[in-house]
Amino acid sequence: MNIEKSQVIRGAKSDFVFVIGLEVHAQVRSNSKLFSGASTQFGAEPNSNVSFIDAGMPGMLPVVNSFCIEQAVKTGLGINAEINLISRFDRKNYFYPDLPQGYQISQLYEPIVGKGKISIQTEEKLQKKVGIERIHLEQDAGKSIHDMDPTTSFVDLNRTGIALMEIVSKPEINSPFEAVEYIKKLRLIMRYLETCDGNMQEGSLRADVNVSVCEINTFQKFIETDDYDLLGTRCEIKNMNSLKFIQQAINFEARRQIKLIEAGKKVDQETRLYDPNKNETRPLRSKEDAHDYRYFPCPDLLKIVLERAWVDKIRDDLPELPDQKQHRFIDDFNITPYDAEVIVADHVTAEFFEAIATNTDGKIAANLLINELFGRLNKDNLSFNENPTTVGQIRELINLIKSDQISSKGAKEIFDHIWTSGGNPSELVDLLGLRQVQDTSLIEQIVDDVIKENPSQVDKVKSNPKLIGWFVGQVMKKSEGKADPKIINKIVNEKLK
Ligand code: ADP
Ligand code: MG
Repeated sequence: MNIEKSQVIRGAKSDFVFVIGLEVHAQVRSNSKLFSGASTQFGAEPNSNVSFIDAGMPGMLPVVNSFCIEQAVKTGLGINAEINLISRFDRKNYFYPDLPQGYQISQLYEPIVGKGKISIQTEEKLQKKVGIERIHLEQDAGKSIHDMDPTTSFVDLNRTGIALMEIVSKPEINSPFEAVEYIKKLRLIMRYLETCDGNMQEGSLRADVNVSVCEINTFQKFIETDDYDLLGTRCEIKNMNSLKFIQQAINFEARRQIKLIEAGKKVDQETRLYDPNKNETRPLRSKEDAHDYRYFPCPDLLKIVLERAWVDKIRDDLPELPDQKQHRFIDDFNITPYDAEVIVADHVTAEFFEAIATNTDGKIAANLLINELFGRLNKDNLSFNENPTTVGQIRELINLIKSDQISSKGAKEIFDHIWTSGGNPSELVDLLGLRQVQDTSLIEQIVDDVIKENPSQVDKVKSNPKLIGWFVGQVMKKSEGKADPKIINKIVNEKLK
């Protein structure tokens, strides 16, 4: 590994490298909670999705939702991780005003998923793998509301007990850009797997961001020795759910730490909060230790024991993931890696692309999708699901372009037409008078006319072959823009050379 420019941050005296580890909390896509049958529906009436278990009533016993287990296993397989056939739940004891049972059921000692990795691109466009330490399942807490009344606080327990996957990365992320890429990639994989909807606004994906800085020569030594003790003290920025703010928070936090270090002070390990209004992080509490939580195995739950064959079956049934899909699209449809990346960035668009490109023309399909369709969605501020065009219409359009029956300008016109008023491209070609003239003898006739009408230009072409373009333009004009430019070019060249 080499240190890249985007990974370096300048201090007053020397250069430092960002060292970042993320703990991503991903809400499991499941209709009911991790240990109760209560609904997980977002936006429900406050405290309407709360069972006796979620409310922490004495004597209630949690029952594991096996679908959540399956979702965690699926996610683990999607990031090439080891699946632990035996895992178990622990209690993390704490006073949580929004988790009435008084402890969070989590997995500290034996998580369900072990080490894995995902690949991302650095700002310099190099591939890089980021290690994942583990994924464990745990309960989410509810929501305390302090700003609805001047004297009273409220609590909404709808989210209490919803299953979260905590995905813990190794400190192998080395720039704010990489942190964002990592989260996006993770989110994309989980969306393909349908294990988390990844909706950051709704809180389905949040991250605790651990940041430290390492003087560049020391970091070089770290690369050579892999000695984690060489890394600096980290601070953890809690509960971030915006990619933009994550980037800003890392930048602020790294600079703050560098200033301390260069002033000869030390960085205290602590939990901090990011304030986007002031673009700064502020201390929340000094870092607690695991023993403060008095973790112990949850006596209400048995160990989770998975059968190898069950895990293998899930592995066999995994959908094609974004990286694989991207490679296949490049190979099968002959499109650029960049276009492929844009297309697979959403599995609904990827599906649409495959439907329009199969047995038509991949390059034309990618071009229409990215330039026309995405452009138009953007302009009209629509999501892909609101796209009014159909696979059938776009396939017809691709075939018209491919067989040179319409020009690229004609294609745009037809696209605009089907976007606003529908219709079949194969009929619209003639309705809108957009069919290209491909009749060679007709085009030849026009070429002859133009040559006859412009004897002096013909003389000039002999000394200046660049003037051929002028003839092509004249022929195009005479044909009212309908002659196929490829054919005009061919004939003009034959006649004037
Ligand atoms: P803890 O158990 O104290 O929470 P972990 O070892 O589980 O600590 O690490 C929590 C997160 O902190 C992980 O995502 C890890 O990658 C990250 N981390 C660990 N050391 C550093 C460091 N020096 N700089 C930045 N992040 C770090
Ligand atoms: Mg932690």
